[in-house]
Amino acid sequence: HPAIALPRDLYGAARRNSAGLDLADEDTLAMLAAAVRDNRARDWSTPGAGAPREIRNPADRRDLVGTAPDATPAEVEAALAAATAAAPAWAAMPAAARADLLRRAADALEAARLPLVALLVREAGKTLPNAIGEVREAADFLRYYAAGAEAMPEVPPLGPVACISPWNFPLAIFLGQVAAALAAGNTVLAKPAEETPLVAAAAVRLLHEAGLPRAALHLLPGAGEVGAALVGDARVQGVVFTGSTAVARLINAQLAGRLTADGQPVPLIAETGGINAMVVDSSALAEQVVADVLASAFDSAGQRCSALRILCVQEEAADRLLAMLRGAMRELAVGDPARIETDVGPVITEAARDDILGHVAGMRGLGFAVEQVAAPDGCFVPPTLIEVGRIADVGREVFGPVLHVLRYRREGLDRLLAEIAAGGHALTFGLHTRLDATAAHVLARVPAGNCYVNRNIIGATVGVQPFGGSGLSGTGPKAGGPLYLARLKARPVALSVV
Ligand code: GLU
Repeated sequence: HPAIALPRDLYGAARRNSAGLDLADEDTLAMLAAAVRDNRARDWSTPGAGAPREIRNPADRRDLVGTAPDATPAEVEAALAAATAAAPAWAAMPAAARADLLRRAADALEAARLPLVALLVREAGKTLPNAIGEVREAADFLRYYAAGAEAMPEVPPLGPVACISPWNFPLAIFLGQVAAALAAGNTVLAKPAEETPLVAAAAVRLLHEAGLPRAALHLLPGAGEVGAALVGDARVQGVVFTGSTAVARLINAQLAGRLTADGQPVPLIAETGGINAMVVDSSALAEQVVADVLASAFDSAGQRCSALRILCVQEEAADRLLAMLRGAMRELAVGDPARIETDVGPVITEAARDDILGHVAGMRGLGFAVEQVAAPDGCFVPPTLIEVGRIADVGREVFGPVLHVLRYRREGLDRLLAEIAAGGHALTFGLHTRLDATAAHVLARVPAGNCYVNRNIIGATVGVQPFGGSGLSGTGPKAGGPLYLARLKARPVALSVV
């Protein structure tokens, strides 16, 4: 097989991660506040033949961000035809030219950072730091996969690829999927989450304005039917999906019924959920643990697939640590994500809120101790702590600011690790210990894709911490890592490190 010659420093020292904003700077804060305020007067509606879907700010339902019509069957068909017709020309473009376009798009994205941040706050309920981080990550994906395209040997792409993305990273994951598929030489049909089509539309406009041929990238907003129509279409030669394990399995089943034009199984990259755990032993530094647990469990209102769901604390340290954690939780500011003081914003919809609160009520009904801090009415869920007795008590991935805690005894550590592994998900895992031997012992027994030691377990950095799991958590290859583009090629590509 032709090989990607991968420099040890991952595509070369010339690649830099995108810079953020200094939130300690008063002028920057004023600029952000003005950007959000001005944005409230802006209508982000997108055109289309279908019935317009209203997109409202989850933190304030009176704020209509815009309308986005769902793609009609005729629009889906037209996009499929155009993406198929355009595939040979896009594939024939030299990789360096495709990479240039993606880099130009990254520059344009950074130049449009303020309106994009404001739109992420309004459409997805992102806090300001989360929204800034998301624009950075999106730019990183564009540049990283641009460099990846250049490092890749001349191997034909798949053809039209469907990218189906989630609402929790409506810009970064949306563009990450799209950038990877385009960089590898495929044309793209992108179906953003039905909750967040507007920031996706803004991103697609930026890419087209940066010079990307219109026929190479088509935006098809809508609900599950649009995704299903794409996955089921014989012209679609590959699928990239981030979302629930249940939907990934449906896609897999649908793809199993057909082959690519080359007579191969249709490649699927699926990144799904996790019931992520963190183990904290009695040697851990409690203050650091508390800060890292707050970030892991409650940042983004817990709406990250990487988020911490089960905190496992060694009995000897548990009383003190949990008392500190409860105190710190009470200090969390839950509310308007446009305010810099806010730690925890809204969840995405009323339905999501009810689902999360339903889990909490169910746990309470089963007799587990539940504690919640204050939260406003609306699409908000109070940060919640639930004491459980076993890993299996948690039952399912709850996509919100709900942290389960569990005490374990030193002699029960291996049984605990076996229970974590037996859950079948393998996405993120955290460990806090100051004992190297414990770290080696624990990490050898946990199958997670991304393991973090003595830090929080969210916010993997493109090109530095490739992100993704295995088992029920996804197919791999990891996003933002050197193997991702190879899955989007029609022939196997090997990897050699030089
Ligand atoms: N990449 C994100 C992180 O490391 C999570 C992505 C997701 O939630 O799908 O936190």
